[in-house]
Amino acid sequence: MNSRRQGRPAIPARRCCTSSSLQAETHAIISPVDPILAHVNAQQAAIIALIRRLVECESPSDDVRAVDHFVDLVAAEAAPIGTVQTFPGGNFGKHLLCEFALPGPARRKGEILALAHSDTVWPLGTLARMPFRECDGRLWGPGVLDMKSGIAFFLFAVRTLRELDIPVRSRVRLLVNSDEEVGSDSSRTLTQETARRAKAVLVLEPGTGLDGKLKTARKGVGGYTITVRGRASHAGVDFAEGVSAIVELARQIERVSSFTNWKQGVTVNPGLISGGSRSNVVAAEARAVVDIRAPRLRDAERLDRKFRRLRPFDRRCKIEIEGGLNRPPMERSVGVVQLFRKAQQLARELGVALEESMTGGGSDGNLTAALGIATLDGLGGVGEGAHAVNESILVSRIADRTALLAKLVAAL
Ligand SMILES: [Zn+2]
Repeated sequence: MNSRRQGRPAIPARRCCTSSSLQAETHAIISPVDPILAHVNAQQAAIIALIRRLVECESPSDDVRAVDHFVDLVAAEAAPIGTVQTFPGGNFGKHLLCEFALPGPARRKGEILALAHSDTVWPLGTLARMPFRECDGRLWGPGVLDMKSGIAFFLFAVRTLRELDIPVRSRVRLLVNSDEEVGSDSSRTLTQETARRAKAVLVLEPGTGLDGKLKTARKGVGGYTITVRGRASHAGVDFAEGVSAIVELARQIERVSSFTNWKQGVTVNPGLISGGSRSNVVAAEARAVVDIRAPRLRDAERLDRKFRRLRPFDRRCKIEIEGGLNRPPMERSVGVVQLFRKAQQLARELGVALEESMTGGGSDGNLTAALGIATLDGLGGVGEGAHAVNESILVSRIADRTALLAKLVAAL
């Protein structure tokens, strides 16, 4: 809550355009500031104002009206520079698809899809204790990093291309879904269908760490529910008649935990257990919910076979396994690497040394990468504290991130 406790913001990225005085003396020509970056720099106050409006419009995943209201706000920003379309989100808010009117040939070559989500993990009313604010070189507030700043960056990137009349070869669309934070069930098909025609997907999720590394690999995410059924009996009178589901589940938990393989990056976390009725009753039923992460599809498939092969240690128990992979891994494919190299080269023109990272967390980028589409993730805000009270972005990185998106769209 108290921003001062979070320490000072990180040192801003190196800017090659700030040539040293020595260089300025020896070379008469100082390297010119990138025109896109210069334009975005001049828009910084307007970008911050938009981020503020987005953050101050709360949009928790489970509140349809709030999310719809937020989507209307984004649609109103996009409408003057393109066309907007919404799709029903079922139990969640509506999904938004924007197509932008950009300079360039009438016949477009391929399509670029930017991916974002409108929902946050923060319940309505969070703003009362975590208001939007700008201090210590950062913007603070619920959803500012994950991922409202990313949406603002992309809208301003598109505006910049229009205002500078920079030709764009591709068709450019932005898909904002409403349920990413709760598993993307209602938007999954729409995301996959929309992405299918794209030559590149740019995911506006936050970068990694305070240097804003891009994400070129994400682990696949899944889960299993293990249900064990035994036989209840009186723990004192008929102990021998009982078959404890809890004891059996404890042994199964030991077994599935051993599936964790650090070398392969595979993790298995029994994160939730329940079972039994009273301490003096031998438990008839027990259940564990297990989270799994795997960097490669083949590891996830191997893991799945292991779960399916689980058998009771005590034959008198019955065991039931449900679940599987929810988001496939975003593997660091050749297409992903090429896209990253392109971004790295464009960032260099902005004076930023861009690095890549791999994360255990999933995003909708997992879905598009699994279709074989070159996907680059983590192009949104640079900051820290996603889903936490210190959620914030660095003001010093607003301009270069926005400019990078504009340059990527123009270059692809
Ligand atoms: Zn997110």
